[in-house]
Amino acid sequence: MSDVSGVVRFEGHLGYHPTWICEACAEPWPCHTFRNIPTENFRDKLLPVMSFMLRTAIRDRREQAHGPEPYEIVKRFLWFLGLTDDEARASAATVR
Ligand SMILES: [Zn+2]
Repeated sequence: MSDVSGVVRFEGHLGYHPTWICEACAEPWPCHTFRNIPTENFRDKLLPVMSFMLRTAIRDRREQAHGPEPYEIVKRFLWFLGLTDDEARASAATVR
């Protein structure tokens, strides 16, 4: 399991496989508080970490009857990129 806390040096407000629920506030992770951390200084480090985690989250979603669509997970995990729905769908389609 990769840990974004090493990248953002942020305590709490982390979510993990397989539920992807924030352990601090119980929102779908990355939660509102986490998404409000300014990312401009570490976007290059955050992108590969979040990309790896969203792949796991999409695979977890396939094993659940209900939950967000893969493109919604892409938008949620890569919020700092400001993807459109079409861009998020294209990204989600690459996850096997
Ligand atoms: Zn939280």
